[in-house]
Amino acid sequence: MTVKQYYQDAYMKTFYTSIQEQQQDDSGWYVVLEQTAFYPTGGGQPHDTGTIQDKRIVNVEEVSGEIRHYIEEPFDDISGVVEGQIDWERRFDHIQQHAGQHILSAAFAEALQYETISFHLGKEFLTIDLNVSDMSESDAQEAEELANRIIREARAIETKWVTEEELSDYPLRKKPSVTGEIRLVIIPNFDYNGCGGTHPRSTSEVGAIKILDWEKHKGHIRLQFICGDRVLRQLNRKHGLLKELTSVLQSPEETMIPTAEQLIAKQKEQEKALEGLKEVLLTYEAEGLLGVQKDDYTLIQRAYSDRPIQELQKIAQHIISKREEAIVILVVHNDQKLQLVAAKGSLPTINLREVAQKVFPLINGKGGGKEGFVQGGGEAVMSKEELLEKLVNEL
Ligand SMILES: [Zn+2]
Repeated sequence: MTVKQYYQDAYMKTFYTSIQEQQQDDSGWYVVLEQTAFYPTGGGQPHDTGTIQDKRIVNVEEVSGEIRHYIEEPFDDISGVVEGQIDWERRFDHIQQHAGQHILSAAFAEALQYETISFHLGKEFLTIDLNVSDMSESDAQEAEELANRIIREARAIETKWVTEEELSDYPLRKKPSVTGEIRLVIIPNFDYNGCGGTHPRSTSEVGAIKILDWEKHKGHIRLQFICGDRVLRQLNRKHGLLKELTSVLQSPEETMIPTAEQLIAKQKEQEKALEGLKEVLLTYEAEGLLGVQKDDYTLIQRAYSDRPIQELQKIAQHIISKREEAIVILVVHNDQKLQLVAAKGSLPTINLREVAQKVFPLINGKGGGKEGFVQGGGEAVMSKEELLEKLVNEL
């Protein structure tokens, strides 16, 4: 069994040991060490990374009691003493986040009797699931304040190995799922937990805890938060964003929200005005379309490119509302498709639905409407002018 140095000293960054064996499994090459400071994935805490001699440790997993240090390529020679180096920045971040989670969960339990039922330590933020169906702003604030007070008070964090029988001596909120020797992580008079993770000596090293947000999730509350240096990084990022927004919106932070609201309201107003102007423009366009006099109707036809079919509908509608003798055939080529609108005033007796039905198969298309007003579309297997010609020929 490898000696777990991360349990003896969570601050060990460099250590010397020997390689017991080098093997390969589905995840790649790995070495097993005499003793290790590398923390393997477990208890919700991600594994460490770092180096052993000149080899990068990309993953550390405990597989059937064996701690496997995965390397990108195998050692040529595994004899002698090797130096292990922990990526300390990553480990210390995990320490801060992990211990922060203990503190925040305990704060929710202490202040509000909200129990943590699960947690996740992610790359950006952490989540805990609380066994409540709803949570208020003031609940979050209360727990956050208590958690940060515990951090400020620099309370000691102790670890202790106990037997199952000794467990009853401690006010644990949750019975540990492991049996045999159990590792307790204790913040005296505040939190007692069965936990196999790495922790700082004092709550002060967690730095700060900030709740970011929460949402309802499967009948309970899932809460997002960050701890330690992540709080500062997040503040830096958000502050940078706000500063940028200040110049984009030409407004100081204090009036940013009303400024943004005004901008959005103004834009909506302009969109509405633009829509009205477009309508007017379409009427002018409709009135400007010249027709050709046929036996007992005037034929108005036109082929367009890249226009919404709604505009064609409006043009056709406007013409037939003004000219009872008109037949309007409009087609448009949009991307890979051809679309058409055919409409007539009250005088012509032709059935435009029948006309269109004869043409739709030619473009693998379909459409519908009334005898006096049809629309539809299909594939651009011919030019828009050809489609127009086919329609006119069917009249
Ligand atoms: Zn822990």
